[in-house]
Amino acid sequence: MSSLVIESPAPVLLPVNGTEAQFPVRRVYCIGRNYAAHAVEMGHDPDREPPFFFQKNPNNLDASGEFPYPKHSNDVHHEVELAVMLKSGGDDIALNDALGHVYGYALSLDMTRRDLQGAQKKLGRPWEIGKAFERSAPVGPIHPVTSVGHPDQGRIELKVNNNITQEGDLNQMIWKVPEMISYLSEYFTIEAGDVILAGTPAGVGPVHRGDVMEVSVDGLGSMTVNVT
Ligand code: MN
Repeated sequence: MSSLVIESPAPVLLPVNGTEAQFPVRRVYCIGRNYAAHAVEMGHDPDREPPFFFQKNPNNLDASGEFPYPKHSNDVHHEVELAVMLKSGGDDIALNDALGHVYGYALSLDMTRRDLQGAQKKLGRPWEIGKAFERSAPVGPIHPVTSVGHPDQGRIELKVNNNITQEGDLNQMIWKVPEMISYLSEYFTIEAGDVILAGTPAGVGPVHRGDVMEVSVDGLGSMTVNVT
């Protein structure tokens, strides 16, 4: 009989819309530059090059509706994204099988300490300090595929203090959801509980304490997040 030498870390659990049941998180993958107009605004070529991913930590996901402005940055940006929650996985998942592994979808924000990320980029260093900080990924309740299907088109939008700052359409994603799942599974073993943040449309920009962010995606409702 083994025992733990420290208390087991709390599991990361996300709410599922319309039920008390929760979704346990295993890993979080985030794709970079997945909408051409956002790639251009960040100074990159919008051509379809192989995708690239970075990771956030499972407990960076936060369904509280509050985003505490983080330390060590004066330029924290919003990135509205579709989140994809997986119920199963594997290695080398075929494109045609990929959607069968999706449990559901949610609204999310890939909050970014842009100044720190920019400094890391310049030095060719990893991005965690800019991306994977505490509560850096506000997320709404998960909408199961059984209720909403697989949203692959429709408006994705972010308002800050009632002004539209980001807007796009899910059909503008360079790498579609099945392609991201299939690609990731070539390099990592994908499992139930994995989450993919599917990239952000153009219009990223700074937030400040006191701002109210309102995220919406057609078919997935809306989510309000207060910057505190
Ligand atoms: Mn992003």
